[in-house]
Amino acid sequence: MNADYNVCFGVDIREKIESFINNSNYSKVVFITDKTVDLLYPKHTFLFKEYCHRYVIESGELSKNINTYYKIIRFLSSINVDRHSLIVTFGGGVVGDLGGFVASTYMRGVDYIQIPTTLLSMVDASIGSKTAINTEDGKNLIGTFYNPRCVFIDFKFLKTLPDKELRNGLSEIIKSAIIKDRELFDMIISKNIYEEGVMNNIIIRSIYIKKKVVGNDFKELSERQLLNFGHTIGHAIEKISNFSISHGYAVSTGMAMISKAYYRLEYISEETYLQIINILKKYQLPVSCEYNKERIYQEVLKDKKNIGDKINLIYPQKIGCAVIDSVSRKKLENIISIACE
Ligand code: NAD
Ligand code: ZN
Repeated sequence: MNADYNVCFGVDIREKIESFINNSNYSKVVFITDKTVDLLYPKHTFLFKEYCHRYVIESGELSKNINTYYKIIRFLSSINVDRHSLIVTFGGGVVGDLGGFVASTYMRGVDYIQIPTTLLSMVDASIGSKTAINTEDGKNLIGTFYNPRCVFIDFKFLKTLPDKELRNGLSEIIKSAIIKDRELFDMIISKNIYEEGVMNNIIIRSIYIKKKVVGNDFKELSERQLLNFGHTIGHAIEKISNFSISHGYAVSTGMAMISKAYYRLEYISEETYLQIINILKKYQLPVSCEYNKERIYQEVLKDKKNIGDKINLIYPQKIGCAVIDSVSRKKLENIISIACE
């Protein structure tokens, strides 16, 4: 299996989505969205056809759980959704991950398309075919690799996105730049990303990076792991905060903390370290957290990406070039301890 599907971009591409749906002969089309998106874009759930349905979840990370998943599955059965149906995830990463997981498991899999509406879901969550729900024990502990038929990215949805959510997504774009693309990094530092042209450009560039990395290593056995830069500590922070700290902000802190540790251990230069801190600060993204090192360490040990006693950490040797460091538990404890100083 590989990430073989199209990503379609534009401003106001509703017609393209409609023609995809209308030309595909699905027996039923079910939109999964959240309350916020449903209120903002009621017309976009395309309820103009008798075979279109809609399921609206509570907004926010806490919906990405097994109860909501099960309720959606029951809903699909109740309206007789069959294997020739289409699920449309219309919303941020929560809707995309949960709806994608529903699509991949209902009747052993039905088609789905993604219409991401947050910056984070446009550049990250909707690209790469990972679906997931959380459990009490951790984020994304249940999930699948499952390709959407297509991802439709409509930049117009960003107009209603609060600044905090924009910066949440920007954190992942900065991550992609740090691990793979020096020019993108310079663009984000030197230009006004709030200009529409600049924003659309960095989104496309960022998606290109993610698609390329995922295309080289779909199952995350090697290169795809680089995308986890900042995520090992980031996921722990999200979990400890009971998801009151959102993904991008937690990843920002994770990137800053891991870079600090690798700088102190002399794996990366002071210049690279400061470049990372400065770009995050420029966009008011966090670079530290108040949680204690023991708590973070215990949470990191539960990360599903750990292999036996080894944990793969990502750090940038320089901007645009990151590497994997496979560390023992002892080294991990030391790194977290330095990162928390
Ligand atoms: P989210 O889906 O909770 O959206 C954030 C908030 O923005 C929500 O309140 C939502 O209702 C609101 N919103 C959505 N679109 C809007 C719009 N156009 N205008 C105004 N408000 C809008 O969170 P997110 O940041 O999009 O995604 C985070 C999730 O994505 C996490 O669960 C994370 O684990 C997951 N994720 C998955 C992958 C993957 O590869 N599958 C990658 C990165 C992140
Ligand atoms: Zn992420």
